[in-house]
Amino acid sequence: MKKIELTLLVLLAMSIAACSKDEAAPEPVASSSDGNGPMPAVESAAGNPTAEEASREITGDYMRGIVVEISDDRYEGRGPGTRGDEAARQYLAGRMEEIGLLPGGEDGSWEQPFDLVGINASQPDTWTFEGHGKSMALKQWDEFIVSSGVQEERAEFSDAEIVFVGYGIQAPEYDWDDYKGADLKGKVLLMMNNDPDWDSNLFGGEKRLWYGRWDYKYLSAARQGAAGAIIIHTSPSAGYPFQVVQTSWTGVQFELPAADEPRTQVNAWLTEDTARELVAMAGLDLEELREAAYNRDFKPVPLGVSTSLAMDVEITRVQSGNVLGLIPGSDPVLKDEVVIYTAHHDHLGIGTPNEDGDAIYNGAMDNATGVAQVMAIAKAIKALPEAPRRSILVNLVGAEEQGLLGSEYYAANPTFAPGRIAANLNYDGGNIWGHTHDVTFVGLGKSTVDEIVTLVASVQGRVVKPDQFADKGYFYRSDQFSFAKIGVPAMYLDTGTDFVDRPPEWGREQQNHYTEVNYHQPSDEYSPSWTFDGMVDDALLGFWTGLAIANADEKPTWVPGDEFEAARIEALRALEE
Ligand SMILES: [Zn+2]
Repeated sequence: MKKIELTLLVLLAMSIAACSKDEAAPEPVASSSDGNGPMPAVESAAGNPTAEEASREITGDYMRGIVVEISDDRYEGRGPGTRGDEAARQYLAGRMEEIGLLPGGEDGSWEQPFDLVGINASQPDTWTFEGHGKSMALKQWDEFIVSSGVQEERAEFSDAEIVFVGYGIQAPEYDWDDYKGADLKGKVLLMMNNDPDWDSNLFGGEKRLWYGRWDYKYLSAARQGAAGAIIIHTSPSAGYPFQVVQTSWTGVQFELPAADEPRTQVNAWLTEDTARELVAMAGLDLEELREAAYNRDFKPVPLGVSTSLAMDVEITRVQSGNVLGLIPGSDPVLKDEVVIYTAHHDHLGIGTPNEDGDAIYNGAMDNATGVAQVMAIAKAIKALPEAPRRSILVNLVGAEEQGLLGSEYYAANPTFAPGRIAANLNYDGGNIWGHTHDVTFVGLGKSTVDEIVTLVASVQGRVVKPDQFADKGYFYRSDQFSFAKIGVPAMYLDTGTDFVDRPPEWGREQQNHYTEVNYHQPSDEYSPSWTFDGMVDDALLGFWTGLAIANADEKPTWVPGDEFEAARIEALRALEE
């Protein structure tokens, strides 16, 4: 998109919003006296305050109502395929209807249903490893967590050798291959989390790429024909403490129905201390193994330790769905294109109780807040006197917590061709702490969506910062990743860290505290102490950004050379066939 065109579009839409913030300053945006002359488009908008009026539909009260409702214990944590999940979907469809959206499913319904395979492995109490005349039995929960890699009633391997494979990464573009052609069929691969980050030219430096995520690791092991994969947990390399592994990987795990992709029998996590003891059985030192793995020349290291594991697995099939609401575009041609707002409506359901005996994982911040923000944005767009040129789709996706399954299903079965999806604006986890001077754009630097977001934020008096926790790989941890994989440029905001009237470190402290204490825990509950001011700001940012994209002549593009550019080119080419 041309920068000038975008600037005009955003300022056109926002001119009144900027003025109304400061009544004392006459025509602050329109009458530029810096020598460039007034911008005609802005002047013509000055008598048309409709978009600004519509934006006032975005209120803390509206969002609070939705958050309080779907994070209530009655929804039982909205676990995919449960009655709480179904109730939440029905409730949200009702709210969509109430604000005047049209059903966005294929057959005039509010939902895009999809099947989920529920996999509940009976975790063994202990897991035994033998070799070099020694034996070691690990304790479930405290030392390891396992899950079934197959959608079958039994997952097992016997006498499989443990092989340390470093990062378990094969990345030709970085000339990196941890396997070096070793025969790993039937082995159990012990792997480090994250990706190499000591060199800014390698795997995005400290940024975590997909190669650094657990889903890549398990898939990578399966491609080698391995029987199992074990990821060594450390909080820095995972981006979260072991308790998140414990609560996320026990109980029913969901997947989309298996196709013919390769699969390991068992996937596991070990604590770092336990992994250290395991390699010590082979007379090796974990630090030394890691040092070796920091090198391109690294080769897999068989430990001479073997293990067996067999689990009964309960397989269930359930249905969940994405809830879809549409605002058809006003332009006869561009209405076939769409800006998609997403927020996942699911959470973890009922699980292991915490110390207070609470077993309901309410998922208030994660992600009732995101759902509320997207609904508020839709309400505001719907309040415009004329719909934007491109269509707007509100897509409240399901089964995110189990690996972005709802968005993955949508990406595989989109209601608009991928080449016609102009952008995805995703909300996952709202700011419950107040106004910020900044806003975090996860994935900043990847596409031209950046320019619009930066401009809108500046009119809000805020600065856009790149991901403040880039090592945690957030871009690959929410639903925009499913859209990026089919080539759609994305906006994914995270809470700023510089809070108005707070000391500089305060914001980071709040966020770290949330991650340590409440993230994926029953204590992620709504509290009346929450403020929605920050969420209103962030929703407004998404509202103006979405409008600018929906009204622009051209769609956003990836920065040349971005990891998802090839997928976009492919999607656009497919439109011509
Ligand atoms: Zn989430």
